[in-house]
Amino acid sequence: MAWKPSEKEEEHFARLEFERKKKLEEERHKELAEEEKKRLKGLHYMKCPKCGMELIEIDYKGIKVDKCSECEGVWLDAGELEAISRFEKTNLDKLFSVFKK
Ligand SMILES: [Zn+2]
Repeated sequence: MAWKPSEKEEEHFARLEFERKKKLEEERHKELAEEEKKRLKGLHYMKCPKCGMELIEIDYKGIKVDKCSECEGVWLDAGELEAISRFEKTNLDKLFSVFKK
């Protein structure tokens, strides 16, 4: 005669199975979120957040300023606005003159 698990054991194994599958699914969701992040970065990297056109990057005194090739918006990375605000006026003027037409 085959051993038959009690109902309580079946419930226990079903719950373990559920927990295991749930964990796998959560891992999958994390992977998808990472993939989506990479996909979005691929789509938007160095593109203007307003008009979507290419940004042109110039390096001025260690600060990378990105200027849109279309709408001429200027974009700064984290911390760069603070760094620029500490520039001497003459250096600020020089930075702006780089973009003057
Ligand atoms: Zn733009």
